[in-house]
Amino acid sequence: MAEILTANETDIARAGTLLRAGELVAVPTETVYGLAANAFCEIAVRNIFSAKGRPFIDPLIVHVHSAEQVAELADVSHPFFKKLADAFWPGPLTLVLPKKDRVPAIVTAGEPTVAVRMPAHPLMREILRAAGVPLAAPSANPFGYVSPTTAQHVQDSLGERIPTIVDGGACACGVESTIVFVADEPRLLRPGVITRENLEAVLGVPVATEKGHLEKLADDATAGAQLAPGMLKKHYSPRIPVKLFAHGAFPQIECAGCAVVFQARKNPEILAKLPAGTQCFWLSEDGDAAEVARTVFALLRRLDGENFSSVFIEKAPDSGIGVAVNDRLSRAAN
Ligand code: AMP
Ligand code: MG
Repeated sequence: MAEILTANETDIARAGTLLRAGELVAVPTETVYGLAANAFCEIAVRNIFSAKGRPFIDPLIVHVHSAEQVAELADVSHPFFKKLADAFWPGPLTLVLPKKDRVPAIVTAGEPTVAVRMPAHPLMREILRAAGVPLAAPSANPFGYVSPTTAQHVQDSLGERIPTIVDGGACACGVESTIVFVADEPRLLRPGVITRENLEAVLGVPVATEKGHLEKLADDATAGAQLAPGMLKKHYSPRIPVKLFAHGAFPQIECAGCAVVFQARKNPEILAKLPAGTQCFWLSEDGDAAEVARTVFALLRRLDGENFSSVFIEKAPDSGIGVAVNDRLSRAAN
């Protein structure tokens, strides 16, 4: 099992020293827990990929503490970079920018661009300061499994493979960062709690949705060869079968021993129509989109640990933060 460090001064200094020396440390952020390593240390970054079983063609996000650190990693001259960083950093937004030479190719999967984020989580900021180097950190889960939103989730699925986890409590956002490719025509590569509408309001131009890096590779059979069949489509996936149903609809359940997850609490008359033995859950009392995002991965993990034959999940409304929730749910269900 991994050792769990906390937010005291000694532990933060220790996490910083370990990271600077090239060790892996799982860290809390406001999105999900990350598995961090010194971004300038190629061997350390390689160890992230082996601990997660992540294919080397899937590039990592580099986390920074300061504007100076961003400039060490990337070309920040595009005017949209400043607009987005001023509006949303520190926070759950990742910006894809032209990379500088000193960023090792393993971090960016050989791409000429690097994904950079300045996280807001106070403990993560202290860890970054203590480490004194930018930290490459993907989600701290085995590749393809549900992302972790507590230190215990990390312990449960990676505890045998990594030495250290810093416990910073449950993540406030609960889904991974929004990713934007910064260019004259900016593109949304992954939806998150910062929505397309939020981005467009700041930039004053439309932000088109584009396939993510791996999905694009999967379209290209040769480049996609590193991806085992099904590795890609199935992401954020629990072991139990997940089926989705439309927002506001009623699930068609034929089998026994199922779980049903609603976006909001339902009244007893509705629940009484479900087959006997069906167990019901909801992601938020009143269907609050931010609360749904915060709780969805934790509930998927919890249900995965119980003996349901399958789980039926109601989709979120397809707007605002609901877009990010539905993105993760549709991958979990694939
Ligand atoms: P994770 O940290 O596990 O949430 O995954 C990070 C994701 O960021 C990757 O799977 C990519 O989709 C995306 N990403 C990272 N670097 C780049 C890049 N240079 N260009 C495009 N997408 C990137
Ligand atoms: Mg991930």
